[in-house]
Amino acid sequence: MPASPTLDDVQIDPQAAERAMLHVMSLRRRRVLRTVLTLLGILVVMVLITMATRDAQNVSLCRVQVDFAVDAFNRLGSGDLPLLLPKSAAGPASVRDHFAYTPTNAALIEKIRPVAVCVCAQPHPLFLRAQGRHLILFDGQRYSAEWVTESELQGRAERLGLHLRQRR
Ligand SMILES: [Zn+2]
Repeated sequence: MPASPTLDDVQIDPQAAERAMLHVMSLRRRRVLRTVLTLLGILVVMVLITMATRDAQNVSLCRVQVDFAVDAFNRLGSGDLPLLLPKSAAGPASVRDHFAYTPTNAALIEKIRPVAVCVCAQPHPLFLRAQGRHLILFDGQRYSAEWVTESELQGRAERLGLHLRQRR
């Protein structure tokens, strides 16, 4: 009765062994590449989410102040606008520096409708959206807030009674 073969009896074809080793290495390389690409994809998504969050915060912090001023103006009724832009208690002391506020523009309503009485002094620099500014407009009855892109504002500024200073 022949003895059953042991590992020592197995003949290994050196070329087949090399092909198998190359195949295993190729699989490993592909796995490493897939892992690296997956990690890069996750990193890109995280960076995009961070940028989108920062953009949203940048615009919404300003909007809170603009909405606060619009409410205050609408409560005034037809009275003259205050000399200083109303700011919420939560707003930092420097919040007024963020805006170019021209209360006297409200008097231009007979010639310009709607007329802008307030605009962000500089465009908000944003990562994922076109940069833009908030406006406070007066239509003769009510004040309202609007977000406009910088290119749109440049085209409308004169018609809204605004004289924008260019950033240096
Ligand atoms: Zn702003």
